[in-house]
Amino acid sequence: MVASAVFFAGLLRIRSFNALEPRLSEKPFLRLVDMPGEAERMCSVDTVGRALRVMDLDSVRAISVAMLAKAERNKVFREGWHGALRYVAIDGWEPFSSRHRHCPECLVRRVRIKAQDGSVDEVEEYYHRYAVAMLIDERFDLAVDFEPLLPKDLRPPVPRGRAKTTRLIKADEDEGELTAATRLIKRVKQTFGWIDVVIADALYANGPFLTVLERLGLGAVITLRKEGEEPLREALHLWGEEAPHEVVEDAKARERLELWDCTDLQTLMSYEGKIRCVRGRVFKLDRPEKRPSTWCFLATGLAARRLSARKVLAMGRARWHIENTGFHQWTTRWRFDHVFLHHPNGLRALFWLFFAAFNLLTLFLYTQLKSYGRDATDVTRTISRFVDEMLEELPQLAWDTS
Ligand SMILES: [Zn+2]
Repeated sequence: MVASAVFFAGLLRIRSFNALEPRLSEKPFLRLVDMPGEAERMCSVDTVGRALRVMDLDSVRAISVAMLAKAERNKVFREGWHGALRYVAIDGWEPFSSRHRHCPECLVRRVRIKAQDGSVDEVEEYYHRYAVAMLIDERFDLAVDFEPLLPKDLRPPVPRGRAKTTRLIKADEDEGELTAATRLIKRVKQTFGWIDVVIADALYANGPFLTVLERLGLGAVITLRKEGEEPLREALHLWGEEAPHEVVEDAKARERLELWDCTDLQTLMSYEGKIRCVRGRVFKLDRPEKRPSTWCFLATGLAARRLSARKVLAMGRARWHIENTGFHQWTTRWRFDHVFLHHPNGLRALFWLFFAAFNLLTLFLYTQLKSYGRDATDVTRTISRFVDEMLEELPQLAWDTS
């Protein structure tokens, strides 16, 4: 019951627990969460908060997993995107930070602040950060899974030393995003075997992470930024002053693309597989005065074998989905960054329920728009308007189904 109250709070983008409080005694809301007709009131928001703190994370995660698994069985993801592959983007997400309140799972950093008298002071700032996996698609984006970055006291001991003398040593630093993301992607692939390719930013362009992906049977499309580091250094060297290997005009996107491609690079000590590099220079056809933007990506596994250079560029650029329809929208429209409660387990339970709400609404709108035969590419933009309408119609909605 509490879980469904929070689920609907997420679905209806109720801004805070204070805003949820009056709803808990409204008849339509009680109907929605399946309270018996004679019930006067569900419970207080304090109870909701307490329940979230002890909520079993596996069970609450199972709601989202079941939803995605069902969509998969119904062949929603069958077409995939470019190359008929299914893609998840991975990135770090920091929903909030605080200078005052903290919990055992908070990460800590020192930040400089300017006082009113102009003096500069250094204070501790507490924050939570998660590695998030999002299924990205041409038609819609869905939250798949997330994993917190753990503070040093909660990290499992790290093996150190050579093979024979390996000892487990207590970590002396908060966990990095790559460590949490590695746990995350293993679980994602274990749960959703049909996912093919991971898309990520330059932080992930390293041998150990590529090795993890290869062992899981996942392909990768990863941003390359540092010209002095492998494999980009080698690729730039090979391309030298060569003319583009391919020039394409994309009439729909109003872009002209110049592409350079090289396959089978083996320049990373820590990765045994072959790496493909693609560079794309993008000219905007409608704004010839604008300087072109240049992108470089590496591709491995299935993504390197199945995609053309142009598609590698397209998928690497599609990484903005996780920042835009994911993080940006969750913050500006869904207010997931509002600190409903501050507790390690409570926060994770809350986000799981909110993600389930986000996914449900996305899938619902996708199937609706599709069945009306309209252009279903605009699902994420439609969501906010739809939720506003739904909030207004909530009383009817809840009564009409009785
Ligand atoms: Zn905390």
